[in-house]
Amino acid sequence: MTIDDAPRDALRGGPRELLRWVATGAAVSRADLSRLSGLSPSTVSQRVEALINQGLLEETGAGRSRGGRRPRQLAVPTGGAVVGAVDLGAHHARVGTLDLSGRVVQARTLPVRIEDGPEAVLGALLAEVTTLVGDDPVASADGSAADALRGIGIGIPGPVQHATGRIVSPSRMPGWNGFDVAAFCAGRVDVPVIVDNDANLMALGAHRTAHSELDHAVYIKAGTGIGSGVISSGRLHRGAQGSAGDISHCRVVADPAPPCTCGNAGCLEAVASGAALVTALRGQGVPVSDLTGVIRLIDDGDRQATALARQAGRAVGEILAVVVNFFNPQVVAIGGRLADCEPLLASMRATLYERCLPLATQTLLIERVAAGQDVGITGAAHLVIDHVVAAA
Ligand SMILES: [Zn+2]
Repeated sequence: MTIDDAPRDALRGGPRELLRWVATGAAVSRADLSRLSGLSPSTVSQRVEALINQGLLEETGAGRSRGGRRPRQLAVPTGGAVVGAVDLGAHHARVGTLDLSGRVVQARTLPVRIEDGPEAVLGALLAEVTTLVGDDPVASADGSAADALRGIGIGIPGPVQHATGRIVSPSRMPGWNGFDVAAFCAGRVDVPVIVDNDANLMALGAHRTAHSELDHAVYIKAGTGIGSGVISSGRLHRGAQGSAGDISHCRVVADPAPPCTCGNAGCLEAVASGAALVTALRGQGVPVSDLTGVIRLIDDGDRQATALARQAGRAVGEILAVVVNFFNPQVVAIGGRLADCEPLLASMRATLYERCLPLATQTLLIERVAAGQDVGITGAAHLVIDHVVAAA
């Protein structure tokens, strides 16, 4: 081990990691946990007992014997505990319940009018979580469903001050600036509510479901808006206030530089986001109403839409090249609705290789986020699960 390995290594075998190994099936016994963590059997036993006492792990009958007494198997409880999760987007919200291993139990998509303001939108989404928990087969398994809810994780499509759960200067969210999401929710439910921005939740969800073995990763979320989440030394990196990874107002080369909602011009978001592509196409006289329409045009090989998608991909690649040179991740993955847009992805990749140091791209994986539409609620659930485990 080198000194550089120390921060991640200090986490090895912590309660969260023990729980995760059991949840993912990597470990089914104390002996497995001891082997994976390198911790002594007595330390593992102590931590496992604490997790069992908190209801986060359970013992389920006997496993296979390797001679002598048959070991008891460990499992994440499938009855009696769920977390609620909300991934709020510009026009839709994904709402779900997940078990303590981070597996989606129920999920649905609701239409949302963000301009109705935070009270109306969040009030309706919290009510939906309560309804889902009431219907939840996992939550109902051990009696009262309401008691089963351990916490709610909420993703917001704008900057969130992490310590307070307050929204700060979001684009395209009129009436939400300064709104204290955590306090509003705390007044309506009596479980912990954790708020973060949607790109961070996508990063966490994607990292936990694929490549959790890699310590350094950058996830770009390219949908109506554009942002990114950073995994550093195996953990979500938020920086001092929670704005780490917010690349939306980084300036890119664009002529003419389109005006941005922030008051500047030439921001990445004003050039490469889904909203920017809609605006640019309309400016060229193409009657397109939303991102779905833009993606359809690109899929149909429309010349103007494809050229704009390539330009957007170059802009994302330019910013990402700075990030990759600076941060040296092992994987860069792109998610969100624009991730399926082939011309954008191709020019992003080309720009990245052109602008990065060879050492930074030698083994760099450049991928699509594979986790699908539940990646945000999966990240939201993991935030809560980590909180519950830390509190234990
Ligand atoms: Zn801007």
